[in-house]
Amino acid sequence: MTIIKYPASNDLRELVRFSEKDGTIWLAENRMILMHTSALGTLRKELIGSVGKEHARRLLTRMGYASGVRDAELAKRIRGQQSMTDAFFTGPQLHMLEGIVRVTPIDMELDFATGKFNGEFRWENAWEQDVHTREFGLSDEPVCWSQIGYASGYTSAFMGRFILFKEVECVGCGHNNCRIVGKPLEEWEDAEEHAHYFESDSMLNHLLELRNQVDYLRTTISQQTQTSQMVGSSKGFKHAFDLVQRASGTQVSVLLLGETGVGKERFARTLHQLSQRKQGPFVAINCAALPNDLIESELFGVEKGAFTGAQTSRMGKFERAHGGTLFLDEVGELPLAAQAKLLRVLQEGEIERLGDDRVRKVNVRLVAATNVDLQAAVREGKFRSDLFYRLNVYPIQIPPLRERVADIPLLVEAMLERFGTLHEKKVQGVSDKAMQAITRYHWPGNVRELENMIERGIILAPTAGWIEIEHLFTHIGEMANWDGLITATGCLESKPEPCRTAALVDAILTNGVSLESLEKGLLEESVKRSDGNLSGAARLLGITRPQLQYRLKRNSADE
Ligand SMILES: [Zn+2]
Repeated sequence: MTIIKYPASNDLRELVRFSEKDGTIWLAENRMILMHTSALGTLRKELIGSVGKEHARRLLTRMGYASGVRDAELAKRIRGQQSMTDAFFTGPQLHMLEGIVRVTPIDMELDFATGKFNGEFRWENAWEQDVHTREFGLSDEPVCWSQIGYASGYTSAFMGRFILFKEVECVGCGHNNCRIVGKPLEEWEDAEEHAHYFESDSMLNHLLELRNQVDYLRTTISQQTQTSQMVGSSKGFKHAFDLVQRASGTQVSVLLLGETGVGKERFARTLHQLSQRKQGPFVAINCAALPNDLIESELFGVEKGAFTGAQTSRMGKFERAHGGTLFLDEVGELPLAAQAKLLRVLQEGEIERLGDDRVRKVNVRLVAATNVDLQAAVREGKFRSDLFYRLNVYPIQIPPLRERVADIPLLVEAMLERFGTLHEKKVQGVSDKAMQAITRYHWPGNVRELENMIERGIILAPTAGWIEIEHLFTHIGEMANWDGLITATGCLESKPEPCRTAALVDAILTNGVSLESLEKGLLEESVKRSDGNLSGAARLLGITRPQLQYRLKRNSADE
């Protein structure tokens, strides 16, 4: 082993320029910054917290890699005429000058002509292990990720082939120094395992894949419980359920209509369960939950290379639902371009993935749902009329909970059973007073709101005790929906107050206020009182946020 010495670093130090007047610092032609390592430590911690250790490591490795590549360009320019070793040492010397780490060469063999590279270096005072151990303590694996990225990026760009560096010892794991070894990728036995930290981040794909798995699991787990929750004996409910049963024997596309929270997905699952497709998949997608530029790839799939970031081919929901049922919730939110494609799929029974010209046959029953007035959307040009007619062949209106008050006790009973099992807690039931409050409440959030409330009640009520009003309605805001039946202290009043409404109606009629201007005034005032917060305004009015939005939109369209 030869003793390896750095050349003098004056040439490099002269490249650093502080241009205070411009607010800039330069390393040759590269703009640099002085940053607090503690700030970088915060960034690192937040990265790990939000995307997890593996992805954070990948991002930081790639960041270091990019910086190493820049310095390799500089090395060739500054020391291109010097010996190969001296030229290469630009990297380790810059790494020190930049304040990243002290680098001491232990062993190095390098041959440009054959592409041979073998290097071992000792690292001391690494900033990265410093901030990492401060936040996380000792680690099982090396932690100098961006520095390894730098060493690999620098050497790869310098040598013109991928040289992978690995930390074989790291202070972050309890060693005295960090020690790194670098050689061509293919000479590492575990190349694959390390190389993927250098690949561009495919986190979005991972997330989408995970979400698909979650959807699938949820489908399998909840099918049983969901259909058993189809409880009700009210006229409106029975009518809707009857329509579902009749549709189940056919292949007709179904359009479920109703306010938010009425249980449209539950109806869709029931339809699936009752149909001959029940062995096939049930796939649900909420069109409002996806950004516009993702919706088409989610629905129809994407072929590798279709656009930047499409690194792998992926099935869309239509393909996943093949042989089963696809539930498209909030279909009114589909962008027009996606509407055109959806229409074509419904007409032809075949799909084309994005970036693919192959046509694939799909056998899917579509159940669409919406809580907006699609006909109005058609009039406003936001929804294609041909698609509307295609979807509206078999509409089923699911009544809001306040119109099926008779079902509430049955629903509550079923929910008590379910949440009691889930939370391993038995209660006597809902007290009479609380039940009275429940049946008189407006239920702007419908069955879903009732569900949330009963679950809360189960959690808050004493074991083996009764669920009381205060276990159900915890926010004062909810009292605003109360129809004047409950006082701020949570006590039910013995009588409703019809006189208040009567006096109002009288005043409105006497003063000749039109219904439109009354609604407009009410809407504007409630938005104003909630400081523009639409959810708050909706609560004041006892309606849902989408309902409020719809009314606001309609009013402004009328003007
Ligand atoms: Zn280290």
